[in-house]
Order: sequence, then structure tokens, then C-alpha cells
Amino acid sequence: LLQLYQPLNFFGFIYAEVRQALIDMENLFDLLQEKQDIVDSPDAAVLALTQGEVRFDSVSFGYDARRPILKNVSFTIPAGNTVAVVGASGAGKSTLSRLLFRFYEVNGGSVSIDGQDIRQLTQASLRQAIGIVPQDTVLFNDTLRYNIGYGKTGSSNEEIERAAKLAHIHEFIVGLPDGYETRVGERGLKLSGGEKQRVAIARTILKNPAILVFDEATSALDTQTEREIQAHLREVSRDHTTLVIAHRLSTVVDADEIIVLEAGEIVERGHHEELLQSNGRYAAMWQNQYSEES
Ligand code: ATP
Repeated sequence: LLQLYQPLNFFGFIYAEVRQALIDMENLFDLLQEKQDIVDSPDAAVLALTQGEVRFDSVSFGYDARRPILKNVSFTIPAGNTVAVVGASGAGKSTLSRLLFRFYEVNGGSVSIDGQDIRQLTQASLRQAIGIVPQDTVLFNDTLRYNIGYGKTGSSNEEIERAAKLAHIHEFIVGLPDGYETRVGERGLKLSGGEKQRVAIARTILKNPAILVFDEATSALDTQTEREIQAHLREVSRDHTTLVIAHRLSTVVDADEIIVLEAGEIVERGHHEELLQSNGRYAAMWQNQYSEES
């Protein structure tokens, strides 16, 4: 039996290794979220970041040419400002962040950063400049240190812990029996939605991108966690050009501009107070959410 056990044990080991590799790959694809068939043009340039201004100019887009999702969308996020996009589910909010990251190519109009059309840029330099905190962060089956450090290759332990402190997840981590060496992901410690998002924020702080995209989780977090995450986001987005894809209106109150998207079109825009006063769609959404909460 012992003779049988050793080879079986060996195969078990190989199986576990292969499985881990597959899970890591799967995570990576989840992380990149979408297919990758966009190639750099032969004369693609490296993004020359000056301010970090983001501009959508008359952007039209559909995943399928027969079904337009975004129609003639134009807005600018001046360097260091925050623009929040709100609208019903399926309005096309997250699609904006996918276009900015160039997971897909626009069908009409253009997306540019500091005046450079992103189609003319290398994808590596584009993605280097943008940090995304996605709706549902996928964690690698590895340690918390690895999962945060992934934001910047070669980061030191001090840098990782500093980022974790800024994302308000450090205290939680050091309270765990294995601290930063705690394994997370499918086969490790299961983190709550809010904890995962804070790991993602720490990762993004470490990356320190000029442009930040925060795709708010659709799943409801408890009010306390939500408030904390919003506060962290405010801290992180200071000095960064930020696009917030908002699913709850409480997130957008402080934004420099709020864009209301309806079936792929901008139907209203302005500050929170302005929009409330104009008593249109945004005011109705606000009223709706408020009455639901109370
Ligand atoms: P939610 O608030 O529910 O997240 P959203 O406003 O962010 O919605 P998007 O994710 O931008 O909406 O999706 C807009 C539309 O595009 C939806 O109708 C959706 O079905 C469609 N869509 C999204 N992703 C894809 C995809 N990969 N392929 C085809 N259609 C897609």
C-alpha cells in the first residue's frame, strides 16, 4: 500500500500545483475581466502624462454593432477632479470605465488623456496610468502581502504596509494570526466585500496612478463599511483624476460633476445641489433612494 501511496501522493501534489496555476490564470483573466484582442498600432506612443485630464468626446459604442450602448457621450474630467456617473442598471456606466481602459474600442468619437487619443497609445502605458478599484475584487490564492504588493512589482514591505494603512486595512491584517502572511482567495481566508475592496484600494494606492476609476460594488455593503470605504475613497482620490461609477447616490454628493446616464445618453449633469434644485431625473432618483432607506 505504501508503494502505491507515494506515486499517488506525488500525483496529488502535481494536481494541486496545476490546479493552483489554473486558478491563478483564471483570476488574472477575471482581473482583466474581458477578452484581450486589441493590439497596439505599429506606431503607438507611450502616454505622456502631464496633468491627467480625461476626455470622452462624442463617444458611441455597442458591444454588438446592432445594439448601441453609449450614444454621443461627451464629458471631461479636469486633472484632479472627480466625475461621478449615475443611472439605472444597464445604462452603460461600467462600459465607460471599460472604454477608458481600452478593453473595447469606441465605434465613434474618441477617448483621450491629456489630449492624446488612447488608440494612439501603447496599452501598457495607458494601463500604467489608470488604477481601477473594480466592483468585485478578485483576490489571488496567495498571501495578503502578495495581493496588495501586486499593485507595484518589487514593492517593499514598508510600502505595502503604508498602502494598507492608508486603505484602513492594516489594523485588520495585523489582527489576524498570520498577519500579512494570511492566505486569502478561494482556498484561504474569505474576506468580506468591504475588506476585499479595501485590499483593492491598498493595491491601487501602491500603484499610485494618475487616474483612478472606482466601480462601486452593486452588492449592498452595510452602512458602516460603505461609509468607511467612501471616506477612504475620498482620501485616495484627492489629487487624482477620478471617475466614479456609482450605484448608490450617497457616494456622489461631493463629486465635482455628476453625470446622469439614461440608456447610454447623458440626460443631466451638474453638482449635487444644482441637480436637486432642477428637480429632474437625479432629484427623482435621490428621492427614491431616500424613501427606500427611510
Ligand atoms: P449596472 O448598474 O447594473 O452595473 P451599468 O450601467 O454599469 O449597469 P453596463 O455594465 O455598462 O451597465 O452595461 C450596459 C449594457 O451593456 C447592458 O445592457 C449589458 O447587457 C451590456 N453589456 C455589458 N457588458 C457586455 C458584454 N461584455 N457583452 C455584451 N453586452 C454587454
